[in-house]
Amino acid sequence: MLSGPSGTGKMLLARAFAALLHCSSPRDGEPCGTCASCRLHAENSHPDLHFVYPIVKNKSLKRLVSADVADLWQTMLDRYPEMPEEKWLEILEAGNSRIGIHVEEADDIVRADSFPPYTSQYKIFIIWLPERMRVEAANKLLKVIEEPSEGTVFIMVSDNELQVLPTIFSRVRRIHAGRLSEAETRDYLRRRFGFSDEKAMRYAPLCEGSLIRACELGSHSDENEEFLAFYQEVMRAAYAKKVGVLRKAADRAAAFGREKISRFLNYMARMIRENFIYNMRMPQLTALTPEEEAFSTRFSPFVNHANVEDFLAETDRARRDVERNANAKVVMFDYFLLTIILLHRKTK
Ligand SMILES: [Zn+2]
Repeated sequence: MLSGPSGTGKMLLARAFAALLHCSSPRDGEPCGTCASCRLHAENSHPDLHFVYPIVKNKSLKRLVSADVADLWQTMLDRYPEMPEEKWLEILEAGNSRIGIHVEEADDIVRADSFPPYTSQYKIFIIWLPERMRVEAANKLLKVIEEPSEGTVFIMVSDNELQVLPTIFSRVRRIHAGRLSEAETRDYLRRRFGFSDEKAMRYAPLCEGSLIRACELGSHSDENEEFLAFYQEVMRAAYAKKVGVLRKAADRAAAFGREKISRFLNYMARMIRENFIYNMRMPQLTALTPEEEAFSTRFSPFVNHANVEDFLAETDRARRDVERNANAKVVMFDYFLLTIILLHRKTK
């Protein structure tokens, strides 16, 4: 079981390890990438590779097994190889339903384990989020997990090992996957998004060791600069109490559309948090690009213990309101007006 916080590339590692086990000519502990097995792995269609993952109960599914939503899973692996769970919920259109690995799935695993591998030495099951496994499913799996048939390999990928049922937990060998170093994050940004060395250097500290965060930044890196400019404009106008400017800014923000507004408000929250830390004279703890830091040097005194909590709470509230389809112009104007009050709140 690979375990550790989400965004540490555990699924990528599990997939690479599975490919390595099947590869006909591995080199230096890496799959070759070109043999027949590796090609099948690249498409996630190797007959001896089985993915098991949590799904939602749905009347249109006759049986609650992963294989029935395999097309959605393929979309997930292609689009979000860093495996943020909330994206899987989105793809499943789970709404408020819980996701789980159900007992029918366990039946299938037990049956599949009893057959020898098709084309290779190993039959590999990659179980994503074993913490979502239902008790009945876990009970059925105990025996095969403890004593798999010859050639069967289980690889579990857990974001939260404390939630894995103790019966399963006690039967696995755990390998901890911690947050990525800055050098690893830089390398990832360069390879996945084609960042220059200089750009990767600037962005890596902002990822906080998470590939999911790196991916958000990588896909919207131009946005980061746009958001910084917008954040500065809003804060300056709020400080100068220029209500007219804030109203126009709210209209412009509303035109972003919900998802981008939500990303902007996340950006605001990050800057507010970072400015506060900066203000506490702990610049070594901040994760800012040089441009952000230049602004923070001057602006950070205005984010302080008197307003930081309300700032973050209001930013979060505005984001949730927008995500719940409230009128974005109204929400953003309200929020920007509040920044006037918060910025001018007296420190004792
Ligand atoms: Zn190979």
